[in-house]
Amino acid sequence: MLVSDLSAELIGTEAKANDLYDRAAGAYLGLAVGDALGATVEFMTPREIRELYGEHRNLIGGGWLGLRKGRVTDDTEMSLALGSSILAVGRVDARAIAESFSDWMRAKPVDIGHTVRRGIGLYRRSGTLEVPENEYDAGNGACMRSLPIALFTLGSPPQAVAEASRIQAHLTHHNRLADAGTFTVIQMVQAALLGGGKAHLRMQAEALVAAEEPYRFDRRRMENPGGYLVETLRAVFQALFATEGFETALVDVVNRGGDADTTGAILGMIAGALYGTGAIPRRWLNALDKTTARACTRQAVALLKASPHCAGAASVARRSAAVG
Ligand code: MN
Ligand code: MN
Repeated sequence: MLVSDLSAELIGTEAKANDLYDRAAGAYLGLAVGDALGATVEFMTPREIRELYGEHRNLIGGGWLGLRKGRVTDDTEMSLALGSSILAVGRVDARAIAESFSDWMRAKPVDIGHTVRRGIGLYRRSGTLEVPENEYDAGNGACMRSLPIALFTLGSPPQAVAEASRIQAHLTHHNRLADAGTFTVIQMVQAALLGGGKAHLRMQAEALVAAEEPYRFDRRRMENPGGYLVETLRAVFQALFATEGFETALVDVVNRGGDADTTGAILGMIAGALYGTGAIPRRWLNALDKTTARACTRQAVALLKASPHCAGAASVARRSAAVG
């Protein structure tokens, strides 16, 4: 079933607007919490994590970046940079996003991926808004920051969602396999926002596998996932579908180690949309950097409000009020 079918189905079931906004805030806070939780154990193996923490389950900072407790990394910061660009110009505009990413890089972020640095550098030198296609480089750097696209394009036709996703992704990452994985993550977030359950999300993950075989996640347990999006999403899907709540899913995925802040961020945005803010443990929300938490919540609401789904609902309400 497509997201658009689900949307049509839910119109009749009085999906409450409050639920939708709660899920959107849950997705953004989930992303940030997952990033902060995972960053502590980024680049560690599951065995190293076990030896040091038993099971890693608290926002304590540290890690190879020496983070302050509750601090997020590039996954959340680039999402916020993307989201503010969309809100500033009212659309997904490659040049505006490139400027926003460039400003972010100028502010000396705590962490920046190699492919991201290269893409932003190319834009600065030549104004390039789409890096050359690279068949070997399906990194996870565009997927980790894709949440604002999911929120802003909710209610758009799938082709428009995919195009918006490619515009932001190709500033730094241009790869067919990565595009497919990122689009699936966006579709999963959108389905969850509209009230789709885990079985629905699983069908979407399986549709990705049917189209792109490397994403198969039903084989070996994915431990120590690297920055390759195929590995990232295998770990995320395994953890998401093997658990029953936000906390257990996120603890599962970050304790697999590897690129744990990014598996945490991507799982966090999907699970946050699926389970809502109420499912995110209080101790994590309390520990999360306050400025970041406020920015995430504010953007979640603003991006959703500007989406066709919500703008459409508002105009229907206005029309019926005028008729009544
Ligand atoms: Mn990061
Ligand atoms: Mn990472």
